[in-house]
Amino acid sequence: MSDIRDYDVVVVGGGPAGSTTAALLAKNGRNVMLLEREKFPRYHIGESMITGVIPAMEELGLTDELDKRFQPKYGISLVWGLDSEPWRASFDQTGRYDHSWHVVRSEFDELLLNTARGFGVHVEEQAHVTAVLSDENGTVTGVTYRRGGETYHVTSRFVVDASGQARAISRKLTEVSWQEDLRNVAIWNYFTPYVPLSDGRQGGDILVESVKTGGWIWGIPVAGDKLSLGHVLPATLVAEAAAQGLSHQGLFDRAVENSEVAKTMIANGAPVDKLRTARDWSHVCMSFHGPGWLSVGDAAGFIDPLFSQGVWLGTSGAWMAARALEAALKNPADTERALDRYELVYRVLYDEFLSFIRFFYDPNKLREIYLERAQQDVWHPDGNLKVGFITLISGIKALPNITGFDPLGTDLPKTVRM
Ligand SMILES: Cc1cc2nc3c(=O)[nH]c(=O)nc-3n(C[C@H](O)[C@H](O)[C@H](O)COP(=O)(O)OP(=O)(O)OC[C@H]3O[C@@H](n4cnc5c(N)ncnc54)[C@H](O)[C@@H]3O)c2cc1C
Repeated sequence: MSDIRDYDVVVVGGGPAGSTTAALLAKNGRNVMLLEREKFPRYHIGESMITGVIPAMEELGLTDELDKRFQPKYGISLVWGLDSEPWRASFDQTGRYDHSWHVVRSEFDELLLNTARGFGVHVEEQAHVTAVLSDENGTVTGVTYRRGGETYHVTSRFVVDASGQARAISRKLTEVSWQEDLRNVAIWNYFTPYVPLSDGRQGGDILVESVKTGGWIWGIPVAGDKLSLGHVLPATLVAEAAAQGLSHQGLFDRAVENSEVAKTMIANGAPVDKLRTARDWSHVCMSFHGPGWLSVGDAAGFIDPLFSQGVWLGTSGAWMAARALEAALKNPADTERALDRYELVYRVLYDEFLSFIRFFYDPNKLREIYLERAQQDVWHPDGNLKVGFITLISGIKALPNITGFDPLGTDLPKTVRM
């Protein structure tokens, strides 16, 4: 069956990046279709938000609902570096928002998708995009998708690839560059009950703990009495362990056993889900856009989740993508300029985080060295070192580039270490 319809924009993928892009365009009166392969709610990893996501959530009118439904996150508690003492940094030190959320992604993503629907986006679930339509010049003009055993075609002025690590569209249109030094694997499960880091606000922190056997552990109080506990380690270590007969479960147990704090949090807890694993290999596409298409979120680039920045990158990209596409739809002559600008600013966000994560990934430094580097990155040479650190890793430092994004602007984005 062939069913041709025409939209301003077709968005492929209904994760945070896709739903936010679609919702913001529709809010502006654009005719938008979103195609999602799964039926929501569906499981997804990526549960801890940084406060940099808040402007996008405010724009969608969701902050009260997020406060009602999800656990508050006040900061980050670390066991990292040569000093063995745990340390923490809290969001309120940024002088902006004092908390974000730890979310159950199936519920969070469904909320965003329904919000997009509410703004008038035509959403189709269980719609698997299989091919790109293009004209004789190679300009993307739409997509083909399968739904309920039928094949459909849909045309649009622009196609947005927000299909996450599947890169359903961009894998056909651009090359990808893999960050070989961040070629990791993640292994995780959920534990009930657990012991919070403290009775106060610190109890709402994410725990990030390096382990001497290699890699690090996250502890995310994701809901009520449930802790998400994950271990990230280099793929080479996983391969070596496999050669010695050590399973993913064995690796996970070894990391917890070698931790100082994580093991105390689940001392009386039991796993309540199956052990899950994912490839966690940072990458970035060579192009974020081309004639008739643009990519956003993990489909454009993914960075190891050390600082929980993935949803922030995706929704920030969505914010800028919606504005760039709006400029292009309004005046087609501005298309290249607007999409180039989108790519330039989005790459700055990506590169800045990647650069700091690379620096931080080596756990053999003193705490002050990490903090001083962050302080330099936010251009505050004086003052409390932790303020620089939390301002950088909460995404607050980059906010002016995002909320002030002008697709036709000419100023260089405020950045460091380019
Ligand atoms: C181990 C791990 C831990 C993480 N922890 C965090 C964290 O704590 N905090 C954080 O912010 N981020 C975290 N992340 C990153 C976060 O999960 C992602 O950055 C985020 O989900 C990206 O959102 P997205 O919308 O780009 O893609 P996704 O959320 O992956 O959404 C893409 C959607 O596209 C759909 N799709 C795919 N192919 C097709 C197709 N062909 N047709 C139609 N639909 C399609 C998929 O079904 C999916 O729903 C983590 C990642 C990993 C691997």
